[in-house]
Amino acid sequence: MATLLINGQWRAASDGQTIPVLDPCDGKPFTTIDRGTAADIDAAVKSAQAALDGDWGRMTATERGRILMKFGELIVKNAEAIAKIEAQDTGKPMTVARNDIVAVARYFEFYGSAADKIHGEQIPYLNGYNVQVVRVPHGVTAHIIPWNYPAQMFGRTLAPALAMGNACVLKPSEDACLSGIKLAELLMEAGLPAGALNVVTGYGHEAGAALTAHPGINFATFTGSPEVGVMVQEATAKNAVPCVLELGGKSPQIVFNDVDVDKAVPIIVKAITQNAGQTCSAGSRLLVQEDIYDSFMQRVAEAFAKVKVGTPEMDLDCGPIVNKKQFERVNGFIDHAIATGVPLLARGSLADGVAKDGYFVAPALFGAVPRDHKLACQEVFGPVLAAMPFKDEEDAIRLANSSEFGLVSGVWTENGGRQQRMAARLQTGQVFINCYGAGGGVELPFGGMKRSGHGREKGFLALEEFSTTKTVVLHHG
Ligand code: NAD
Repeated sequence: MATLLINGQWRAASDGQTIPVLDPCDGKPFTTIDRGTAADIDAAVKSAQAALDGDWGRMTATERGRILMKFGELIVKNAEAIAKIEAQDTGKPMTVARNDIVAVARYFEFYGSAADKIHGEQIPYLNGYNVQVVRVPHGVTAHIIPWNYPAQMFGRTLAPALAMGNACVLKPSEDACLSGIKLAELLMEAGLPAGALNVVTGYGHEAGAALTAHPGINFATFTGSPEVGVMVQEATAKNAVPCVLELGGKSPQIVFNDVDVDKAVPIIVKAITQNAGQTCSAGSRLLVQEDIYDSFMQRVAEAFAKVKVGTPEMDLDCGPIVNKKQFERVNGFIDHAIATGVPLLARGSLADGVAKDGYFVAPALFGAVPRDHKLACQEVFGPVLAAMPFKDEEDAIRLANSSEFGLVSGVWTENGGRQQRMAARLQTGQVFINCYGAGGGVELPFGGMKRSGHGREKGFLALEEFSTTKTVVLHHG
């Protein structure tokens, strides 16, 4: 089946080329996607522009919202089939894939019901004037998403954009985009007019670069690596187009000596092993107050050693790494840490029967990691946790904020004053206290500080981010 959706029609790439899709559980190809070209991107942008001038642009907010909510229902109806597609494409356990599909439905329910709740303002001005500030869509929006949560990202980026009336061009990841294709089919079935959503599968340096550099787009949003994020910002800046960037992190879990250990340990382990650590907001640094460091790490190590890795059908704690390149990158971090003498405190294990050619990595817990070690500073994007002791509150803040990233942080303490002080001083877009949500629910604004990016997705703030305002000044005398 063709995987490009342009002007409501599914079609192959303009030059007929395709990309093989590999199963991360055995490294073997099982299908292909179309390799979209710059010409396909141009057609997709033109189709989006035409939609804004046509049925889609004329729809009321209520009508748009109804389509999105109907789509939410269709996702729920087809949830098991979509979860299977997602699990095969990414290797994630079926339970995780099922939860991801529930989350996609939530995005469309939430933003579908919010579409007609966004109001403008009326400003008191000079006598004889009526001034309104109305909220309007950006126009054509470009959406570049990664492979770690392809279905969830589809919802996170498209639901608020469509709710606000933008016409979208989506370039999903070449490493995992099959759920997005199925979702786009269902969105058309829900009644979305042709051209309101266009999907161009293909490589980042081809279709992705052509999209972000296209002079016809009015806004771009990107989730992925910091390196590509900067390229996206450069490309959009050339056309003075705003962009939102979500670029990952090195999120600290900060554990004080009054922690509720039984509550904290399973959540801390899950925060780095969930989705095989391929989560932008994974809790990848564990900072523990020095007087409980040994006893606390003992408990974390025991829990870590029990983590099991397997195929989607085995439905264990985590699945494989998404592709060979990432598999080698994650193993590179583990090998380097061992070679440089960082103590390996525990490893999870691979289930019996996983294919030897699959990209499975046994989760690894290291500590104490020197503060300037590569493992303490760089994003691994795998199930590797770097533990470090700290002295007191001041030292914890210094260590937590020393990262170039600033996406999410977790604080574990029963001391109310300390909870407030930490929340105030941590330089991250989200702070979790005595819990950890890895991004949290659809209701919670999400995004980075520093090198983790800028702009906010999720929650009502996404509706502001994915729209702009127009000030209308009327003189009535
Ligand atoms: P990437 O940044 O290369 O890819 C993300 C998306 O950007 C994909 O859709 C890709 O096709 C597209 N892309 C790539 N080059 C592009 C370009 N020049 N112009 C426009 N779009 C382009 O990420 P990756 O190579 O898949 O993963 C590498 C690293 O990125 C990981 O190790 C991890 O650190 C990070 N990452 C972060 C997230 C996140 O959620 N923040 C997700 C995936 C990967």
